[in-house]
Amino acid sequence: MAKTPFLTLEKAQEIVKDYPTPFHIYDEAGIRANVKSLVDAFSWNRGYKEYFAVKATPNPFLIKILQEYGCGCDCSSKTELMIARTIGATGDNIMFSSNDTPVDEFKLCNDLGGIINLDDITHIDLVEQACGKLPEKMSCRYNPGGVFVLTNGIMDNPGDAKYGMTKEQIFEAFSIMKSKGVKEFGLHSFLASNTVTNEYYPELARVLFNLAVEIKEKVGVSISFINLSGGIGIPYLPDQEPNDIAVIGEGVHKVYDEVLVANGLDDVSIYTELGRYMMGPYGALVTTAINEKHTHKEYIGVDACAVNLMRPAMYGAYHHITVLGKENAPATKTYDVTGSLCENNDKFAIDRELPEVEMGDILYIHDAGAHGFAMGYNYNGKLKSAELLLKENGDVQLIRRAETPKDYFATFDCFDFYDKLIAE
Ligand SMILES: *Cc1c(COP(=O)(O)O)cnc(C)c1O
Repeated sequence: MAKTPFLTLEKAQEIVKDYPTPFHIYDEAGIRANVKSLVDAFSWNRGYKEYFAVKATPNPFLIKILQEYGCGCDCSSKTELMIARTIGATGDNIMFSSNDTPVDEFKLCNDLGGIINLDDITHIDLVEQACGKLPEKMSCRYNPGGVFVLTNGIMDNPGDAKYGMTKEQIFEAFSIMKSKGVKEFGLHSFLASNTVTNEYYPELARVLFNLAVEIKEKVGVSISFINLSGGIGIPYLPDQEPNDIAVIGEGVHKVYDEVLVANGLDDVSIYTELGRYMMGPYGALVTTAINEKHTHKEYIGVDACAVNLMRPAMYGAYHHITVLGKENAPATKTYDVTGSLCENNDKFAIDRELPEVEMGDILYIHDAGAHGFAMGYNYNGKLKSAELLLKENGDVQLIRRAETPKDYFATFDCFDFYDKLIAE
């Protein structure tokens, strides 16, 4: 099965005249269609809100598109909170789901009116110290421990995860928060990542909904929002069946009626904090083949490297590659597609069957729209690429320029380092 790029070779050739490779490019039409279908899928829930996980694609231009559909920002650091503030997302439009949190970040979130989602029971005191008193609306992150196995066999290991509180701690935390004047309570959990199954959200929802019922019985607190967080995945592999968001929304609806409504909790808002699902397929890393090497293996070297997209190097993640203009050519070659870092894991693909690649060919690396540019770094003195937006009308807008050596040396500015460097 084929994966279809949202760029043609002709369009890519036109773009590289203004913006040389490598660059990340995002597809406005795809982003809009996807967020629309998400909001539709949960329209049965009056208070539904998606808080986009800013860390996945921290570009204000892209997040502003999501804002048009009512999305807020899920932040977990100071600079992510600053991005939210910059685009006017304050108050209930901020969810602060951080862990191991510096205390001044709680204060910043509270100053912006955002919702603090506590990762740990000890943070109740920290928030109280940082903010003077507890905010009226707060949330806690739950970790059931053990192994979370979905009916389809996908499993993850919450027992090994650093996040969240045990059930006993959740009861205690809500009881303390209630005694300290908190009035609106939320519950959050994130149990499996990149799930490509329609079952994950409904099964996670059942865990959280049952817990909400228990909290009401044991602590006398009525939960007002339940945050299913991230974890809805995308099909990185060409033969994977994508999630059906309408089926997922209906699946959560059914459990909502069965557990919450049946227990008198019929006014709970559902929140999500999706990152990958919102942007992953609608971003690509575009790069040019600049080297071929025939040694013990066949190598194609490109002008991007792991600093532009770290997932293959970091997790061995699969990213599909299309050689633009050769979409229908037979895959007659087997290549390792590499970047130039002095690290042997800097390979976008290993033993990948591709059409014959010629120097100058433009390679389109799929599904780089989330956790792609965002995970970038500067190892080997490599610079981060530009980010471009392919608009619905076909225009291309620069939404973040590429780094230059001056940016790389900027943190030496106390020594006038760069100025001396270029003066010599
Ligand atoms: C990373 C993260 C998300 C988003 O996860 P995706 O897998 O990209 O959907 C949401 N919430 C929290 C707290 C996260 O850390």
